[in-house]
Amino acid sequence: AKRHARGGVVQYARTMSVRSRHHAELLDRLHHAFHEHELFLVYQPQVDLVTRAVIGAEALLRWRRPDGQLIPPDTFIPVAEQSGLIDALGAWVMQQACADLRSLHQQGIGLPRVAVNVSAVQFRSPCLLERIQQALQRHELSAHHLELEITESVAMLSDAQVEPLLRQMRGMGIGIALDDFGTGYSSLAYLERLPLDRIKIDRGFVQQLGQNTHGARIAEVIIELGQRLQLPVLAEGIEDEASWRQLREMGCQAGQGYWFSPPMPLSALVTWWQHWHES
Ligand code: C2E
Ligand code: CA
Ligand code: CA
Ligand code: CA
Repeated sequence: AKRHARGGVVQYARTMSVRSRHHAELLDRLHHAFHEHELFLVYQPQVDLVTRAVIGAEALLRWRRPDGQLIPPDTFIPVAEQSGLIDALGAWVMQQACADLRSLHQQGIGLPRVAVNVSAVQFRSPCLLERIQQALQRHELSAHHLELEITESVAMLSDAQVEPLLRQMRGMGIGIALDDFGTGYSSLAYLERLPLDRIKIDRGFVQQLGQNTHGARIAEVIIELGQRLQLPVLAEGIEDEASWRQLREMGCQAGQGYWFSPPMPLSALVTWWQHWHES
């Protein structure tokens, strides 16, 4: 009977845990990577579609393994979120993004602000605001130098948790952008309820522009919604000049994407900035 039971346990472990074992391994490697400084930030410029002014840059996390392999954030951020590592990781991202913006300013590069992705899990931590304030203070930045990109999963947390915190942040001058609008468990009510400075259209919709698809219509409707609500709209994933022109004509204020630049390390951003302002 005992043997039988053990066999059963093994069987159970096999079927349930291929995923969770993979998950545990990845988490282990991620912890290690975090402490061994294999994680770094790249920046993607955000541009005013009419004036071409650079309005900011989004910080995006990268993980380079010692063997050179790049692991995309979409695979490891969910693991960090589920394990709680995202708190430490997110705090590091905030510090580094502020340090980098400060360093740009010291090099005479007047980037107006840095946009940092903040996961819903981080909003559950009571020290989020304090950490943000510390990062700003430490690098002598003011609140308007920072924009937080939150997803609809943040909006889904209970009002009591999130709304007052967002209002407090926004009251200080920190920008709040609703990321990936229309892709999550979205509700138009968030637009009414949450204090927002910007909506970001997910690149999945943007890239359908010019085609006769529902996705293209959705991008159009989001831009119109932004206009009606007097909320600036930023389009992600602009990959060609035609999309830029089309978005501009539709009244979309800002954008980012490979057409302007892929995300790049800080040193490359400096060079890009100089070229952008020469041409
Ligand atoms: P996201 O916030 O929606 O970021 C936009 C993604 O689109 C980025 O992918 C960016 O590299 C990519 N992208 C930008 N322009 C183009 C384009 O023209 N064409 C195409 N095809 N893609 C473009 P990335 O860097 O792989 O990041 C994936 C996701 O990981 C992000 O989606 C964000 O949700 C998450 N993420 C990245 N860094 C952080 C972070 O520091 N904290 C948190 N919580 N999440 C992060
Ligand atoms: Ca984002
Ligand atoms: Ca996203
Ligand atoms: Ca997106």
